Amino acid sequence: MIGAGPAGLTAARDLALRGYKVVVFEELPTPGGMLGWAIPAYRLPRNTLASEIKDNVESLGVEIKCNTRVGKDISFDQVNKEFDYIFLATGAHKSQPMGVEGENFKGVYGGVEFLRDFNGDEEAWTSGKKTLGSKVAVIGGGNSAIDAARVALRLGANVTILYRREKKDMPAAEEEIIAAEEEGIKIDLLVAPLKIEAKDGKVIGITCERMKLGDFDKSGRKRPVAIPASQFTLSVDSVIASIGQVPDMTFVPKDSGVSVNKWSTFDLASGSKSQTTNPKFFTGGDALTGPDTVIGAIAAGHQAASDMDAYIRKMNGEPAYVEPAEEKIDIPFIIDEESEEAPQAKMPELHGPDRKRNFKEVELGYKKLVAVLEASRCLRCDAEVS
Ligand SMILES: Cc1cc2nc3c(=O)[nH]c(=O)nc-3n(C[C@H](O)[C@H](O)[C@H](O)COP(=O)(O)OP(=O)(O)OC[C@H]3O[C@@H](n4cnc5c(N)ncnc54)[C@H](O)[C@@H]3O)c2cc1C
Repeated sequence: MIGAGPAGLTAARDLALRGYKVVVFEELPTPGGMLGWAIPAYRLPRNTLASEIKDNVESLGVEIKCNTRVGKDISFDQVNKEFDYIFLATGAHKSQPMGVEGENFKGVYGGVEFLRDFNGDEEAWTSGKKTLGSKVAVIGGGNSAIDAARVALRLGANVTILYRREKKDMPAAEEEIIAAEEEGIKIDLLVAPLKIEAKDGKVIGITCERMKLGDFDKSGRKRPVAIPASQFTLSVDSVIASIGQVPDMTFVPKDSGVSVNKWSTFDLASGSKSQTTNPKFFTGGDALTGPDTVIGAIAAGHQAASDMDAYIRKMNGEPAYVEPAEEKIDIPFIIDEESEEAPQAKMPELHGPDRKRNFKEVELGYKKLVAVLEASRCLRCDAEVS
């Protein structure tokens, strides 16, 4: 495996369960991919992530070699030589540039690069050795823009998110947008960046223009169109550009037989859901689809493990894998006419202002009684009420 994110770890677990010896190469110091290095700890506590990886993956004998970037610490060719089959699960870790003047000034960060640096060097950021300054603009409307903004706020900055469409078009999860606003982050809509302003090479502002929505584009959304003479400059100390990510494919040699397309994602062999153009290599997760979701990456890991096993068996002339028979449990079909429909219990959260300047987990967990009631709520989705 190359990459210890949700796709790589899921495939590693499935293959280990089927009796394969699995080694995972991971360039970062700890496994988890975006779960540990981009999604902030106040949303996904690190000890939970680490113990789940230990208990569900490493305990099966999977060896995870961290601090090992394929293409730098070990060559792609060496991995190719040492292993019979390889799963490429390297994610999409390169922020897309905004394509505006001044993008290379000190104080301009890519969203994922900023989050990764923060997660790897939290002490330097929280002690002030590294700083964003007091005013930060975040460009974009996706999960990484919201996470970068909420981390910047917790580091003490006043944060404005600039997004070129309307709020309903923001790709970030709705609850994340609400949470950001509760915490005091301003979202300025229908705004696009034009130029980063700097003094002595250091960011001092961002010039933007206001947009209005024109005709529908290919994505089915209305295309933002600039309003003439609507330019304005926001005074900021840092700019975080979070408008999307692409995979970094520099580790794949041109002569590997593994085809990479113009979107910097892997091509698949015709008719396959995970095998690349070189039959020895399989892929899945963000490296195949571009930025997606954790559950999408987990599903891709299951798919790849199953495809790899099927291919290996075929090559070895072995019979196809048969799932172990599941134990059937009879669950009595009871609909309690007396019980009332109840909505899902609301998760208690830290109050918005109490989340500033700390990285405490936002969701506080249910009290015992609520947890018991929630667990006993009828979720008989199979029961059709006529
Ligand atoms: C800020 C942010 C917030 C998000 N929030 C959510 C959310 O709330 N819900 C949700 O469902 N999804 C969210 N996502 C998306 C989700 O995290 C990703 O879709 C998912 O992690 C992709 O899994 P993956 O295994 O394909 O790749 P990744 O998780 O990116 O893992 C790839 C791993 O490969 C390693 N790697 C890369 N190249 C090499 C190499 N050459 N050698 C060795 N190792 C290498 C990387 O270091 C990384 O650990 C978020 C993403 C970001 C960036």
